[in-house]
Amino acid sequence: MKEYDKLFDRITTARHLVAFTGAGISTLAGIKDFRGKDGLYKQKDTEKMFDIDIFYEDPTVYYNLARDFIYGLDEKEPAIVHAVLAELEEKGFLKALITQNIDLLHQKAGSKNVLEIHGSPTEHYCIQCDYKTSFEEVAKTAKTGEVPLCPNCGKQVKPAITFFGEALPQQAMNQAVQEASNADFMLILGTSLQVYPAASLPAYTLQAGGEIAIVNDQPTQFDSYADFIFDDLEECFEALDKFLKKI
Ligand SMILES: [Zn+2]
Repeated sequence: MKEYDKLFDRITTARHLVAFTGAGISTLAGIKDFRGKDGLYKQKDTEKMFDIDIFYEDPTVYYNLARDFIYGLDEKEPAIVHAVLAELEEKGFLKALITQNIDLLHQKAGSKNVLEIHGSPTEHYCIQCDYKTSFEEVAKTAKTGEVPLCPNCGKQVKPAITFFGEALPQQAMNQAVQEASNADFMLILGTSLQVYPAASLPAYTLQAGGEIAIVNDQPTQFDSYADFIFDDLEECFEALDKFLKKI
């Protein structure tokens, strides 16, 4: 028996618990991981999908690949990790949730304090003028295979997702660093901690004297610093869910 009970005790006795999530938690909801075994980046052309130069030149590259992956998200449901994290927040144990994910599933599960450090498709904006529009509006056009264009100037609209070649959203990143530094315990879930500067967040917790737990199906560079290491997210969160239901 794995020591999920000890992890649960640590979670419920933390002074300031913060979770940091990556694509691995959404594979349980049927969403493709980027760098995992069957990751999205193993498919042809997907590394170009979030390239900012390519997006300016030819937005069809992004919109073709995003048609199902992003604009079909309203058909996806949160998985067990999303649900348990939302409940931990509701019960007052979880103070902040930092995510690299752009799939909106934490919000759909009911999480409130979500810091989206790789941006979010909730908002879209014109690359030329100050026109802004919503995910729902853009999805209507994107699902037909057309590139959504600005009604004012005719340029393509871009999701507020951070593309390669763009800076991370400053405000969300600042808040994430603050939360990580303030955390006495950080849950690191479904991220292989390869993308910087996001991958440096556990270091803020450790430097401030906090502890970390890592649940991921692949090893990470922070494994030797972790107080808890598990490799099966689904099994771990089903166990945590059972403990949580008893209190
Ligand atoms: Zn415009």
